[in-house]
Amino acid sequence: MMFKNLKNKTVLVTGGAGFIGSNLCEALLKLDVKVRCLDNLATGFMHNIQPFLNHKNFQFIEADIRNLEACQKACHQVDCVLHQAALGSVPRSIKDPITTNAVNVDGFLNMLIASRDQQVKRFVYAASSSTYGDSIKLPKKEDEIGAPLSPYAITKYVNELYATIFKSSFNLDTIGLRYFNVFGRKQDPNGAYAAVIPKFVIQLMNHEAPVINGDGSNSRDFTYIDNVIRMNLLALTTKTESALNQIYNTAVGDRTTLVQLVHSLKKYLSKFDPAIANVKEIHGPNRLGDIPHSQASIDKAVKLLNYKPTHNFESGLKNAVEWYWEQFKS
Ligand code: NAD
Repeated sequence: MMFKNLKNKTVLVTGGAGFIGSNLCEALLKLDVKVRCLDNLATGFMHNIQPFLNHKNFQFIEADIRNLEACQKACHQVDCVLHQAALGSVPRSIKDPITTNAVNVDGFLNMLIASRDQQVKRFVYAASSSTYGDSIKLPKKEDEIGAPLSPYAITKYVNELYATIFKSSFNLDTIGLRYFNVFGRKQDPNGAYAAVIPKFVIQLMNHEAPVINGDGSNSRDFTYIDNVIRMNLLALTTKTESALNQIYNTAVGDRTTLVQLVHSLKKYLSKFDPAIANVKEIHGPNRLGDIPHSQASIDKAVKLLNYKPTHNFESGLKNAVEWYWEQFKS
């Protein structure tokens, strides 16, 4: 079994009741890891972790990363941290930069301090492709970033700066994973800040027209959740010294336009409900803080972490659509 050196280790997943965090908890439990999940349920849900609540290796702590004492307690006797807790969404950060900063920067620093104080061996954290900012270079390479385009992007970049300093100042090993538009099971389709894929899936299922920002030629490196799980497990377990204290694109290395996305969604959904093929999308204005194209180079992760995506965009999307259909068909 791969990743068997994780067995019986204790891993703290912050944001563990969220989309990515709860998927990480599930993957770790399957590997016989002792999982501690910390979440304040700001954007996460109990239903995401309900199936694990009675698992002997699972512990849930309802707490806020803005509280240093709570972070210290959560990190006690933990081997590694997978830090996912944050307020996502560019528009949310534009509407309320203060709260986004408090959670994403102050909370992040609290988690670093607690990890240092409790002698955590490795701190793996969710960074973001938004750190590439206004750079138009494609594919995006880790050391070629532009100027940030939103408060959210600034917070995620500051995370990387702090993590680097915690190695040089306090000898805490960290790995940052710059996620590129993650999608898949358990991603919340509801609310003002829902991500584009689950939002479009539910709209199409309800025969409502999805609204594409701009002309639909904008493209993203949409990344299926299983690829993200794999990167986190590789980051947790790598024994290669030079792979530590690095930042990695976490993506497929491809890009898909919004028009292609809607086309593929209709293709997979119309297998369940043929009428969905006839739902017409509509176009709205471009969104503030959006870049036209995003595509990662995954060369660094391939080279240093031995990463290979488990799913391309289409195979991931097909799985995701099947999951949403099962969950939300009325
Ligand atoms: P999510 O909102 O589903 O998960 C975030 C979790 O953090 C939620 O469960 C929320 O309740 C929790 N949380 C928020 N504030 C908290 C606080 N103050 N204290 C404790 N817990 C708190 O979002 P996600 O998509 O699973 O994102 C996970 C991480 O990945 C975040 O750091 C996000 O910035 C990053 N990320 C996600 C994507 C993506 O495409 N989904 C892309 C780039 C980066």
